[in-house]
Amino acid sequence: MEITIAQLLADFDSAGSGSDMYRFAERAYPLCRSLTGDGVRETLGLIQETLPLEIHEVPTGTPVLDWTVPKEWNLKRAWIKGPGGEILVDSRDHNLHVLGYSVPVRQKLSLEDLQEHLYSLEEQPDVIPYRTSYYRENWGFCLPHRLRETLPEGEYEVCVEATLDHGSLTYGEFFLPGESQQEVLLSTHCCHPSLANDNLSGLAVVSRLAAALGTVSRRRYSYRFVFVPGTIGSITWLAKNEDTTARVSHGLVAANLGDSGPFHYKKSRQGDAEIDRVVSLVLRESGRDYGVEDFVPFGYDERQYCSPGFDLPVGSLTRTPYGRYAEYHTSRDDLSLVQPKFLAGSLRTYLEVMAVLEGNTRALNLNPKGEPQLGRRGLYRAVGGEGSRERELALLWVLNLSDGSHSLLDVAERSGIPFATVRASADALLAAGLLRNLDPPEEV
Ligand code: ZN
Repeated sequence: MEITIAQLLADFDSAGSGSDMYRFAERAYPLCRSLTGDGVRETLGLIQETLPLEIHEVPTGTPVLDWTVPKEWNLKRAWIKGPGGEILVDSRDHNLHVLGYSVPVRQKLSLEDLQEHLYSLEEQPDVIPYRTSYYRENWGFCLPHRLRETLPEGEYEVCVEATLDHGSLTYGEFFLPGESQQEVLLSTHCCHPSLANDNLSGLAVVSRLAAALGTVSRRRYSYRFVFVPGTIGSITWLAKNEDTTARVSHGLVAANLGDSGPFHYKKSRQGDAEIDRVVSLVLRESGRDYGVEDFVPFGYDERQYCSPGFDLPVGSLTRTPYGRYAEYHTSRDDLSLVQPKFLAGSLRTYLEVMAVLEGNTRALNLNPKGEPQLGRRGLYRAVGGEGSRERELALLWVLNLSDGSHSLLDVAERSGIPFATVRASADALLAAGLLRNLDPPEEV
């Protein structure tokens, strides 16, 4: 039996896929991810249970565009002992307690000297902030401001048991071939320790999207899924795949897909790329609240894909955008912020985007002089039914705009008729011999 994306959407098991993705997030949450190291490898290992990811290891010191692959960091444990000898802060309680990429240290010091290495949020006194020092060697601890305020004077002992050595940067990649060499790029970051929405939601949705598209019988496009540490990972991928970028026709950076917020789409730098129009249409057709925003050169890895030397048609589809929720980059971005139904809604929305991309072809009206007689060909329903008026209008719109220069996306945008109805009408007209598909590969 032929499986299509439309079929996957019709059969979509929201509860089942939501709980599957949530279970993945629960298992990956405790892992100590960073730009490099075993936490990333273990996380990609969990994804490999669903998807045969190819794992790439790029050695420390490798030049990548204007950057260099950093040393590999692995944390064993970090703690602060108070003047009484009791452990006050311990990375075993929460990965966020240690400043990411902290260099190894073990020393005794005064509270005053320790303060220079502590990070807390006065305005959110009960949370542990997420801080890193990737490109400047430093060590430090992150803790709730309320705890910080209770620290007594006296002699403290700190210990960061970690390695920061020559190693490699790890990323995962999965390629799904289609009829065309043109590719759809899906990218998500894999470098945040114990943050659920800002990290695990993207990994969950993109890995399940890849698995779902893998079951589809025919794909017009090829698909490439990359799971990379933020910034340096996408820069590394771009440096190693410059030839591939020429084949990227559409792309999305996925993040923040498990919270309760409405969808937000950040357009590609190009601003009017097909992906920009397709995502906008899918969100419009959803009937729910959503936001569409112009490109800005900050946020997630779209910054790299949309740098001027690449300028790829890559946007970013999130729920609440980068940095705009109170729990962002704190210990409150935990498994309670993410819910299975929101993860499932995100996966569904991504599938809807892919359905439109796959179905957006151009056709040529083979009977362009006057309207062809549809009733004679059985294309007008003799008796009206639910939606039949819309189907008839869709036939007329498709015939009218199928002049070789307009796509089915143009038809849906201009007519306001749902894309799926437009696509179904085009299929009926193709079957009746009134249209010819202009976008190779031809119908097989
Ligand atoms: Zn982040």
